[in-house]
Amino acid sequence: MNGAQSSSASPQHGLTDRLARWARGFSGKSEEDSVEEELRPRSGTASNREINRRRQLYGDIGDFLFAHDLDLTPINFSVALDYLTGANIGVEKAIRAVMMERGKITNGWIESIAAEQRADEVTPESLATMLDKVEENLTQFTGLMHESRNSAKDYGAALQEQAKDLGEGRDNEPVLARLVGLTRSMVEKTRQVETQLRDNQRQTQALKSSLENARRAAEHDHLTGLPNRRAFEGVLREEVALAQQNGEMLSVAFCDIDHFKHVNDTHGHDTGDRVLKFVAGLLAKASNDHCHVARHGGEEFVMLFRGKSAAEACEAVDSVREDLATRSLVNRTNGERMERVSFSAGVANVLIYEDPRAALKAADRALYLAKEHGRNRVYLAAETD
Ligand code: GH3
Ligand code: MG
Ligand code: MG
Repeated sequence: MNGAQSSSASPQHGLTDRLARWARGFSGKSEEDSVEEELRPRSGTASNREINRRRQLYGDIGDFLFAHDLDLTPINFSVALDYLTGANIGVEKAIRAVMMERGKITNGWIESIAAEQRADEVTPESLATMLDKVEENLTQFTGLMHESRNSAKDYGAALQEQAKDLGEGRDNEPVLARLVGLTRSMVEKTRQVETQLRDNQRQTQALKSSLENARRAAEHDHLTGLPNRRAFEGVLREEVALAQQNGEMLSVAFCDIDHFKHVNDTHGHDTGDRVLKFVAGLLAKASNDHCHVARHGGEEFVMLFRGKSAAEACEAVDSVREDLATRSLVNRTNGERMERVSFSAGVANVLIYEDPRAALKAADRALYLAKEHGRNRVYLAAETD
């Protein structure tokens, strides 16, 4: 199903008309005016055509937003514009994929795609450009230091030369004048180098903070606010090394919301997104210095417990599971009570495996068994896994 194409042919003209009227308000012309202009070629035809093209695009954006039941927000406008003009291949591809999978776009989904786009502004290319710039700054910095050192050396040598002349008791006046001149030019040179160094430092500082923002965005899940899988993998590596070093225990849990597809199918994806945020919030409450929680992808979360055996981690995860399973959630869009939401989990002791990836697989297998045995339960991985 292609929502964009079907939507432009849809009879939902209310919003389009409103948007078109709004657009006409800007150009100060009525619809009849614009038709007449199209029929009567004159010098301004090209710009009239452009106005009509923009008006058409405006109508298409309205149709798109209306067909997908999207709020009239700047983000939704901008994503629709990117999609319909093909100005952003990333957005276009993502929308096509989600329409193939679900047939519909939601406000929450657009929010996350827009946030991803913002993070994606830090593309590998832009990151490479930033790194190039840092490198360039460093080279410049080294050059400046070199230059400064050479100037000081030259100055020292010239000074020594003049001092020699002074020592030999010749006529000292021109020598002194030259010394003053040399000193002046050295002071001037130092001032220039200082200014350049300050500029260089400012630029490097700005780059450092852009890189820091990029790093933060790249390790952050926009929907739930939790660290993402990429961040988790980094933390896992660090925690394994630390736990091994300190002889501490380390356990990992995979949590997966039960029948989440059904939640989406029954209540819509916006509600699905809200449920995801809610579950993420409950799991995040368990996070502290010794427990790292991340969204691993889709409706799957991962928890890493430092200093807890797998059995203890199992208990901790089970108390969150119980908390969620006993809550009765309400669908905010229609005020209806939802069926219980639960998750299943699998827990493994990370350090009994050579490779932490094997521990993740073991936790995943335990999760699979928990699903098979009825869901809404937490299983411990067999140590022989
Ligand atoms: P199970 O109990 O076996 O885990 O069943 P399930 O329905 O939870 O699992 P399945 O893998 O069949 O479906 C997962 C669904 O989660 C499908 C996908 O559309 C949905 N999903 C993944 N990410 C998001 C998201 O960010 N928002 C919403 N609303 N749905 C999502
Ligand atoms: Mg899943
Ligand atoms: Mg699931």
